[in-house]
Amino acid sequence: MIDVVALGELLIDFTQSRSNDDSVRRFEQNPGGAPANVLAVLSKFGVKCAFIGKVGNDVFGEFLRNQLLDLSIDCRNLVSDSDYNTTLAFVTLDDKGDRSFSFYRNHGADTRLSAEEIDLELIRECKVFHFGTLSMTHEPSLSATIKAVEYAKSCGKIISFDPNYRALLWENEDSAISAMKLGLMYADIAKLSLEEAQMVTGKTLPEDCLKELLKYKLGFVAITMGPRGCVYATDKYIGAFPEYPVNVVDTTGAGDTFWGTLIFGFINSNANFLEISEEKLSEIVLTANIAAAMSTEKKGAIPSIPEFAKVRAAFEEIKGK
Ligand code: ATP
Repeated sequence: MIDVVALGELLIDFTQSRSNDDSVRRFEQNPGGAPANVLAVLSKFGVKCAFIGKVGNDVFGEFLRNQLLDLSIDCRNLVSDSDYNTTLAFVTLDDKGDRSFSFYRNHGADTRLSAEEIDLELIRECKVFHFGTLSMTHEPSLSATIKAVEYAKSCGKIISFDPNYRALLWENEDSAISAMKLGLMYADIAKLSLEEAQMVTGKTLPEDCLKELLKYKLGFVAITMGPRGCVYATDKYIGAFPEYPVNVVDTTGAGDTFWGTLIFGFINSNANFLEISEEKLSEIVLTANIAAAMSTEKKGAIPSIPEFAKVRAAFEEIKGK
């Protein structure tokens, strides 16, 4: 039985490594792609997960498949395609650990997943179906995404959505906003960065963004705000947490760790996913906020996912104060 299925991009993040030699810039090869990062968190915390996507039939695709398999993520619907290259992203870091991206994605395999390649059986098995917008930038992966999410919705699955906006991958801002709005129309639970929330709602303040986002009939929505923590809301409750203080090295995947930890909390709560008490909800969001902060203490998205016991210990310490 698979608990969470995610569909989307799977790529290599070449993350800049710090070096004393100014004449040579070095990059480390890390697995990347937001939906896979979310599954990596869930799988590390013991949840059964499966990934749907496409890589090239090349050394990078093989590396990515092996990374997911090492994390015990089911890869039966990870397609390898000899006609396309695995997508690459180069992530450079400034002094504060903040990132800028260069993508090598022309004809990238992740955009080539077709609707016919989706294993609907896998989606029928799961509790939560997760997706973002990067599989919606090009055809045929746009149609594949819509088919999968519509099927998941028709089976009554919980639909989880994190747009993960990357300006460089869209023709223009309007097409990105349209994809975010489409995703929100399907979603039951969603996480947006403040920038994404402002783009979609046209509001500035996080609380105003939350109110607008709830109009999409979301059961739960969170807005992550980097070093300013997060805000969240359901139709009954609203809450916020400031950042958990850490020594930041690299923020890659912080949002994915936040969201993976949050889905983990929902799955473990035993309560009806969308009818959770205010106290339990606040516990789940605080835990996600701590895990996300801890993930910035190391480089890369997947290697930096903290141990759940360490996250829980920090949670207990805050509650004990
Ligand atoms: P990504 O694209 O990497 O998934 P995101 O933009 O979705 O990131 P952010 O808002 O940058 O996500 O960060 C997610 C969460 O990580 C924040 O809500 C916060 O809990 C934590 N976080 C990020 N940066 C910091 C920081 N500098 N200090 C403490 N916590 C942080």
